[in-house]
Amino acid sequence: MTGIDPPFGVYVHIPFCRRRCDYCAFATWTDRHHLHQAYAAACRREVQAAALPPATSVFFGGGTPSLLPAPLLVSVLDAIERVPGAEVTVECNPETVTAELLDSYAAGGVNRLSLGVQSMVPRVLSSLGRDHDPAVVEPAVQRVKAAGFGTWSVDLIHGAAGESLEDWRRTLDQVLALEPPHVSAYALTVEPGTPLARQRDRQPDDDAQADKYLVAEATLTAAGLANYEISNWARPGHECGHNRLYWEGGDYRGIGCAAHSHQDGRRWWNVRTPDRYIAAIEAGASPVAASEVLAPADRRMEALQLALRTRAGVPAGALPPEARAGLGDLVVEDGGLVRLTPTGRLLADEVAVRLR
Ligand code: SF4
Repeated sequence: MTGIDPPFGVYVHIPFCRRRCDYCAFATWTDRHHLHQAYAAACRREVQAAALPPATSVFFGGGTPSLLPAPLLVSVLDAIERVPGAEVTVECNPETVTAELLDSYAAGGVNRLSLGVQSMVPRVLSSLGRDHDPAVVEPAVQRVKAAGFGTWSVDLIHGAAGESLEDWRRTLDQVLALEPPHVSAYALTVEPGTPLARQRDRQPDDDAQADKYLVAEATLTAAGLANYEISNWARPGHECGHNRLYWEGGDYRGIGCAAHSHQDGRRWWNVRTPDRYIAAIEAGASPVAASEVLAPADRRMEALQLALRTRAGVPAGALPPEARAGLGDLVVEDGGLVRLTPTGRLLADEVAVRLR
């Protein structure tokens, strides 16, 4: 965290993956690797044309950013002006994490890594359609530590077909043995149009998901990682500044295909495919596909919904006692703020509809 107010974030979308996981609806392609050079050049041009304020955080997400050759990724980062101490995160799949890659990142200014581990159980990983072996995770983490990255995260997913509660406990225990400063644990969601959406018998069960969430909360908290957003836990000082900026309704700029931007209540997003994005930038045209302006009341409500999902909570006036009737132990009031309890986080949407 830089402590600079207001923060400003830059998200760079890297739309390349080795293979497509069957639950994934992200804008990513497995047959566009020939575009690496042209895509990085287009991102640099978009940054240069945007004349952005200095960034307090930069986040390379995807896709699989670590599939883009490190010099190309760093060339995009070089184009982005940053404040001293800016947080710079790259999402990596553990099997792509080599000492050379990490050295290039560190020399280029990357200071935070987010490792897409998902599960430590081979059967569960294949059920998710992932192709890495959990045996690569521990060496990848050792390399991250040896390269001097002081902060890093492990991303997990629970709810794959065939994953038992014991499998999930095993994943959490094995990940915690690696002493991560930050863990994101997401419930598998069924996105329309994905192979998973067509196979009802492989879709997660709500009750089992709730049990797994509560096991994650208890296990991660006991290990010293505090929940600071529904799906995110961190040791003190290791919260992700870039994500906090999203949750606090801050301004950010998305670079690359399908990337979303926000400034002062206006949102816009770029064309979805890397080919169309590159073509637009090379032609000197805008890559923006569409935009919307939030009405002040909608903006206020959205800010409350996001705040409710975080440790900060919402002002008690936004969820007065009469609006809380019947919510039981889903929320607690403390110091003029109302927050979700762990059980409440499971039903965040039902609480959010009561916000005023
Ligand atoms: S690695 Fe990530 S972005 Fe790529 S297909 Fe799998 S879930 Fe989607």
